[in-house]
Amino acid sequence: MILRLRGVEHAYRRTVALRGVSLAVEPEEVVAVTGPSGCGKSTLLHVAAGILRPQAGAVTLLDQDLVTLDDAERARLRRRNVGVVLQFGQLVPDLSALENVALPLLLERHDRGAALTAAREWLERAGVGDERDTLAAELSGGQAQRVAVARALVTGPSIVFADEPTGSLDSTGGEALLALLLAAARERGAALVIVTHDNVVAAHADREVRLRDGHVEAEAVLR
Ligand code: ADP
Ligand code: ADP
Repeated sequence: MILRLRGVEHAYRRTVALRGVSLAVEPEEVVAVTGPSGCGKSTLLHVAAGILRPQAGAVTLLDQDLVTLDDAERARLRRRNVGVVLQFGQLVPDLSALENVALPLLLERHDRGAALTAAREWLERAGVGDERDTLAAELSGGQAQRVAVARALVTGPSIVFADEPTGSLDSTGGEALLALLLAAARERGAALVIVTHDNVVAAHADREVRLRDGHVEAEAVLR
């Protein structure tokens, strides 16, 4: 088990987003989290990735109890072993695309030349090699999404979380980015948890976990 949530509850003021969610993800498994808008998908992803602390329940990620890890340890775990593609505001706006992708490696004190080379390769694979010197603030939504995927993959994580990773792309671009996520996960033997309301994306998963109103309504093994 690479990820396990048990009885996770979370509310924003009066809005209850998660009401007792349990979920387990195996290494190398591709899980699609689906469900209508507002059912708690993003909240679940933020909790599972250690970005948001749930108000109740247990979260174990890569054998680490997220409840007892302090901020620095959680940040380190994410930097080293977890790739995260969020919907908004994930790139540093006044750094170039290349610098954004190299950043996680530089923070881990990798050699600067090697970090930039790896970043260039991932930008190419994500189809935004030509944008490497563009400031993140000046990228289109679709380009920013591709750069965010490159940044999530550059460290070779054991698990990748992606929140609507194809949302700003047309269907061809979305399929290409999905294919890249799936291929990168397979190459590395990484697990992949994708939040989506796109049936095409869900169809590529090993398992679909469907949320409704803050709880798991149904699970389906797809392959
Ligand atoms: P989904 O990703 O399925 O659309 P979310 O996890 O984003 O669902 O949201 C679940 C519920 O929590 C929704 O009712 C949403 O409006 C509410 N919510 C999400 N984020 C916040 C926030 N930061 N503050 C207040 N309410 C929020
Ligand atoms: P607080 O500011 O309430 O003392 P912490 O310093 O423990 O919270 O955590 C700071 C950040 O880390 C917050 O964004 C919180 O959502 C997140 N966090 C804390 N504990 C956990 C946890 N067990 N799992 C996931 N995220 C957590």
